[in-house]
Parts: sequence; C-alpha cells; structure tokens
Amino acid sequence: MADSSTTPAAQAARISPFMAQYLAAKAEHPDALLFFRMGDFYEMFFEDAERAAAALGITLTKRGRHGEEPIPMAGVPWHQAEGYLAKLIRSGFKVAVCDQMEDPAEAKKRGSKAIVHRAVVRVVTPGTLTEDGLLDARAANRLAACVMGEAGAALAWADVSTGEFEARAIPLAHIAEEIAALSPAEILATESDAGHAVLREAAALCGAALTPRPRIKADAKAAERRLKAAFEVAALDAFGDFTTAELSAIGLVLDYVELTQAGAAPRLAPPRRNAERAFMAIDAATRAALEIERSTRGVRAGSLLACVDRTVSAAGARLLAERLARPLMDVAAIRGRLDAVQFFLDAPDRRAGVRDELKAAGDLARALTRLTLGRGGPRDLAALRDGLNAGDRASARCVGLTGDAPGEIASACAALSLAQHEACAALAQTLERALGPDLPLLTRDGGFIAQGFDAALDEARALRDDSRKVIAALQAKYAEEAGIPGLKLKHNNVLGYHIDATTKQAEALMAPPLNARFIHRQTNAGSIRFTTTELAELDAKISRAGEAALAREQALFREFATQAASLERDIRAAADALAALDVAAGLAHWADEVGAVRPEIDESSALIAEAARHPVVEAGVRAAGQGFTPNDARLDAEGRAGARLMVVTGPNMAGKSTYLRQIALLAVMAQSGSYVPAKRLRLGLVDRVFARVGASDDLARGRSTFMTEMVETAAILHQAGPGALVVLDEIGRGTATFDGLAIAWAVAEHLHEVNRCRAVFATHYHELTRLADKLEAGQNAHLRAKEWKGDLIFLHEVAPGAADRSYGIQVAKLAGVPKVALERARSVLAKLEQSGGSTRVEIVEDLPLFAQVVEEHALSALEQALDALDPDAMTPKQALDALYRLKGLKAED
Ligand code: ADP
Repeated sequence: MADSSTTPAAQAARISPFMAQYLAAKAEHPDALLFFRMGDFYEMFFEDAERAAAALGITLTKRGRHGEEPIPMAGVPWHQAEGYLAKLIRSGFKVAVCDQMEDPAEAKKRGSKAIVHRAVVRVVTPGTLTEDGLLDARAANRLAACVMGEAGAALAWADVSTGEFEARAIPLAHIAEEIAALSPAEILATESDAGHAVLREAAALCGAALTPRPRIKADAKAAERRLKAAFEVAALDAFGDFTTAELSAIGLVLDYVELTQAGAAPRLAPPRRNAERAFMAIDAATRAALEIERSTRGVRAGSLLACVDRTVSAAGARLLAERLARPLMDVAAIRGRLDAVQFFLDAPDRRAGVRDELKAAGDLARALTRLTLGRGGPRDLAALRDGLNAGDRASARCVGLTGDAPGEIASACAALSLAQHEACAALAQTLERALGPDLPLLTRDGGFIAQGFDAALDEARALRDDSRKVIAALQAKYAEEAGIPGLKLKHNNVLGYHIDATTKQAEALMAPPLNARFIHRQTNAGSIRFTTTELAELDAKISRAGEAALAREQALFREFATQAASLERDIRAAADALAALDVAAGLAHWADEVGAVRPEIDESSALIAEAARHPVVEAGVRAAGQGFTPNDARLDAEGRAGARLMVVTGPNMAGKSTYLRQIALLAVMAQSGSYVPAKRLRLGLVDRVFARVGASDDLARGRSTFMTEMVETAAILHQAGPGALVVLDEIGRGTATFDGLAIAWAVAEHLHEVNRCRAVFATHYHELTRLADKLEAGQNAHLRAKEWKGDLIFLHEVAPGAADRSYGIQVAKLAGVPKVALERARSVLAKLEQSGGSTRVEIVEDLPLFAQVVEEHALSALEQALDALDPDAMTPKQALDALYRLKGLKAED
C-alpha cells in the first residue's frame, strides 16, 4: 500500500499558502526569473535564486523547506531593483516582477494567517523596456516579430519606449538584412520559425534575444481582432492593406507587449505599413563592412553614425541612427530631407538658436510612454513641460522671420508651435506652475508640486509644518517641566515623534510625579523612549497631514498623466518634430564643420564624385595631425558617361579599401538625406549596396574565410541588379593563386556582363587590369605610391590606369620583416619577373636555397667579435674587457 503522505495531494497540502502563491506565479512565467516582493526585498527562490546569485554576485541563502530540501533563496533590495534588472537583462535573462498588491495591514484584517495578495505586474525583457535606467538614451530599443509564411515573410516592430510601431511584408530571402537594418533588442518568432538558422544567425549578429512564442499567438485572424480592439476601429483599412503574414507579425508584437506589461494598455501608435521598396537594401555584412551604426569592434564609437552625429537630444540621435540605417529610395523624399539640412546650413545663427532650444528639451516620447503606462514620475512631467516649451521656442526661431521654410521644417514647426495646439499649451503652462524646483524620481517621495499651486495641498502642508513647529516648542517645554535641560525630542519611522532619554534621565521620568505624564514606549541600549498624550496626538496629526499632502500630490500627478495621455497624438507628433529638427540642424552643423556638399540625387544610373572623402577615416587621419587626400570616382551603369566596373590596384596600405568604402558611404549618406564629404556628388538612386571589404574570419559559424567570401560573393552575383552599387575588396585572396585569379576574373566579368551594376573591384591580381581594359564599360584606376630613398611613400591618390607594380616587398619592409627575408624575396621576384610573370615553381627552383642566402649574408663586426668569444676560457677580468669592447663596436655600428 502506498504511503499516503507521499501522494501529490498530501504534498500539496504541506506546501505553505505562501509557497503556493509563489509557485502559481512562477508557473505563469516559467522562462523568466521571478522577482517576488517580500517587504523591502525582491526575493528569488529555487533555481532562479541560484542563477541570479551567480549572475549578480549576490549571496545565496536558504529559507524553510520544500519537501525535504531547504529552499535556495537570493534577494535584492526593492529600491535598487532597477540596477539589478539592468544587469540581468544584459546577461540575457527575462524577469517577471511580482509585487504586493495591497498593504500587509490590509491582509492582516482577513486574519493573522492571511497572506498579502501578490501579482505579476510586469515582465522585463530586452525588447520591452521603458525605464530610463534600463535604456540607452541615444539608441532605439526595438521589439521585432518575424513571421515566415508560405506566401512570404513579414516583420513587425515596435519601440515600446516611444510607441513607434511598423509592419512590412518582405521576401524570405531578405529577412537577415531587414533584421540587421532594425537591429532589434529582441526578436519574436513562432516556436517553429525560431529554430530557423537564418533567424538565429540574424539575432546573433545584432545581439538580440530570440524569443519563441506559441504558434497560436501568430494567428492572423486573432491579430486582426486584437488590432481592432487595441486601436478601437471597426476595420483596418485606415492602417493599410495588411498581408496575412504582416497581421501575424503584428499579432505577435501586440500579444507580447500585453503579456510583458501585464495588462497595462500597450501605448503603441497604430502600426504604419511600409511599402516594400521604400528603403535602400543593405545586408548585414555590408552594414558591418561600412561600419554604419557600429564599428567592426561592435561599438558606436568609430562608426559613421558616431562620426556625423551632432544632434543635441536623445530623440534626435535615435532618429539619425534610423535614417542612416535605412536610406530612402524616393528622390522627392530625399530632397525634402536635404532641403531641411540646407535650411539650417544657410543660416548658422538660426541653427545655433534652434540647437540651443533643443538642448533644453527632455525626452518627450519616452516620458510620455512611462506616464501612460503608469510608470512615470515627476521628472517625466518636467520632460513634457520642457519638451513642449522648447519645441515652441524652436519653431518660433525657425519660422519667425521667414515664411519660406521647406516642407519638413514647416510641418515640424506646425507640430511644435503651441499657438496651434491649445490643449498642449495649456498643459505646458499648468506644469510650469505646478512643478516645484526639486523633483524626486518617484511620486511617492512627494514634494514635487510647487507651493501655491493647489490650495488643498498647501493647507495639508501648512498643518504638517505648523505642527512640526509646535513639536519643536514642546522640547523646551518638557525639559523645563521635568527639570531636565538636555531632554530631546526625536523622530523615527516606527515610533514617530518621541522623547529620547538617557538611562539617567529616564529614571526621573519613570518616578512619580513625572511618570503620570510621560509614558514609557521602548527601551534600547543607552536610550529609553517616552511619549505623552499630547505628543502622540500631535504626531498622529502630522502624519495624517503628511499623508494627506502626499495623497493630494499623487492625485494631481495622476491628473496630469491623464491629461498627457489624452494629448498623446499631439505630444508624439511634437516629439517626432523635435527629433526631425535636431537631425536636420545636426547634419547641417556637421556639414559646416567638415565642408560637406548637398548631393544631387536623380533617377539616373550615374555616380560621379569629385574630391570625395571617407568621413570616418578622414576624422581619424586629421586627429593624427595629417591630411586626407580627396579622390574622384566616375561610374555609370549605362556604361556611356563613365564606366560600370572600376578595377582598382595599388600596394597594400595605399588606401584601396578606404576608397571603396568611401564610394559606398557616399550613396548611403546621400540617400539618408545627409550632405556628403565631397566637392560634388551626383548620384542616380542606388537600390542595394553591397560592400565586401576587409573580410573577417567567420569562425563562429564554422566557415573558413574563403568559404565566407564565396558565400557572400554568390549572394551578390545572384542579387545585384542594374540599380545596385557593389564594392569588392580582394576577392579570391583566400585560395591558391591560380584559383583566386580565376575566380576574381570571373566575378569581375559577371558583374560587368550579367549584373550590369556600378561596381568597384580592388584586387592585387595585376592580370585583372587587362580585363578592365578589354571590357566595354571597364576602367582601371590605381592608388599612387612612390619610392623615395628606398622607402615607399603612399600618396593615397587615385589615378587612372593600372598600378605599375605592387610594392609588396616595400610594404613588407615597412612592416619590419627581417632584412634577410626581404633580400630573399627580392631575388625570387627578380627571377619571376625575368620569366615573364609566370609563377611556376620550377622557375625559382634553381635559385640558391634560403639557408645559403643566410650564410652569404655578411656578418657585422659585432657579430664576428661575438663569435670569437669563448666564455668558458675567460677570466672575469677578460670577460669584462670583452664586454667593453663589444659595447665599443656597437657604438661604431
Ligand atoms: P589598403 O586597403 O590599400 O590596404 P587602406 O584603405 O586600409 O589601404 O588604408 C590604409 C591607411 O591609409 C588608412 O588606415 C588611412 O590611415 C590611410 N589612408 C587611406 N586613404 C587615405 C586618404 N585618401 N588620405 C589619407 N590617408 C589615407
């Protein structure tokens, strides 16, 4: 017969109600760590405790027993939770926050054994953050959902911190590059899609968490219903004609936002639908090679973004990143952005004025999101006030004097001018009066509403403060009455106001007649506490007045937050407008600083650059006190005006890869709506850019460099159409000479004949220069270098025609290759050159062997003297003399 004490029912019965509550909450969020609020701590139990203790370096303790086993426990103080959350999120965890939903005193009323009601109020995941402390102010924090349907794939993405929400259908083959363009913090996919290698790799590349969701959450019909409910519309037509896959992806996002915000209304904008050809396509490898948002070291520093970013607000920095990540394909839209930059470039004073105003603007979008989610604080109200006011002043500076502002500026100003938004103006004015000078982070700390704003609040505060004054007077009164001059009144959170007496003073207070008046409350080491009826009453009055004041402040706060939420559309539009002004003024500032020009964009197939520079390399070279050499480029896919394919030769370190990347960057910058570092750029729209420069090993994916190079080359040859721009560096280097040359040759020919796109091809195979001469739309260019007194000097200057030689040995010398090896290389080269360029081994076989060359290498006087020494046969004196002799020889050297 089974022992009845081991049945599940019996075990369940033995679990304390408290543990049962914990286990139920945990069961709802099995893949997250559960932060379980207990008094002043968030506690974690079982495996959660062990994992968090290891990740956070906090102490692992034990508490009670579960079955026979002690329960592992670890905790963090609740008021420091944000710091710990940040660390856990960065370490790849998700955290479900389970809070106490009532005052423990409330629970007690239900009986002494009753436990406090708790619920999960939030799941913190990398893609759904809203807190300032957890977010990077200058970077977007996107949550993306990817659906791979039979009829095509789709991406939907939201930035919960700002409310931005978009969806887009994409071909399956473009998933990786679209994800790279978004660089989300977290990617949602159905359980089956999440196993897909493409998604796993894309997530790994941008360091995103990949979160599998049940298939049912991607149901398009359910998504449609959810969308209609969330945005309170009967039909979705107003948002655009969503495909099934888009709806599924939207559904995944909405569901997850709801789940993680635990029912708090997901304040996202209605999803915008993006037409498929809206952006220049840039795959992940190109993004990395061009270092658009991140340098090859994976950080912002050293990237194009960091180089050109002169924005003064966090929202401006985020918008600039988005624009550079997704250059446009619409000539009119690009010109619109360029007009805005020009507007600020032409008027430096206006630019400086607007930038000054923008510096004072807070982060409107993120503050508003926190307020609408009930997670805001007084400082978010201040951000609203400052953002709205700064926007109004900035718009006045833009349009105040001239009525001829370009479209983007005019519409930004219309969104910002408070004269055109009465309700926003009223809110800003109210906040101006309402907020005090010192704002706490949390509403519960109180003290943020200014004196004189609200009569009820002032009254409660006066009562509290007056009573405090009475208390101060009491101290003197009691001291006199008791005849104890040093008697003190103190305050703490447990006892409130009380009399704090030393042991000696206490003896008097506890003896008649004083004991009739002074009531003993508590004895501690060295301090004995008393109260009086009068003091206790006053204390209660003060704390009631304090509570009333705080409650009034909190009510006012909620009122403001509600007002802000009701103006959500206008405030979001203002936030977007602020960011747009900041980006335009910032780009103008940068253009002014470095002397950039407005690109001419059209629908042609040309790329004509005069005296162009690589913005990032130039900044680096200038910082080192040197000059950057500007260079021209002329390409045309039509093959008439210039040439389609440019083959670039020149020694290593001459600047080939810089030149290649600079050409691709010109296109990215121009189509993002930025000025370009050049004297002139005429650019026919580029629909895709491919850059393979400085191929890095892809060991993580188990592919050799050569394999990676070929996989990427294959992708380019398959995908590049006439509108593409391809820059390729040193294709075919990773294999044997003949193979490599053959592949490079074929790739160049294919680009010219089949892809027929604009392409720049850098190579160390001189044979290819002959190909470029032969092709109808081919051209040769080389980076000039010259030898001077046996040293190689790089001019970094691109000239037409092929390089005369490759200077490999000179570069080897610069790099410090030993002289003997250099001499040997020279003789092998001479022999090869005599033989007419053939690389057959037999030709060099009759050269003397390396060992002999070393033999022949003349020994220096110092080396000869060293050889002649026999340390074993020397006296100490002789050894010392020899040492002096050697030193002397070295000096002669
Ligand atoms: P390659 O690809 O030919 O080996 P790189 O493009 O990597 O050469 O350039 C090597 C270095 O030369 C760069 O790091 C930069 O410091 C410098 N350089 C390149 N192009 C220029 C230029 N146009 N003007 C000045 N310095 C340059």
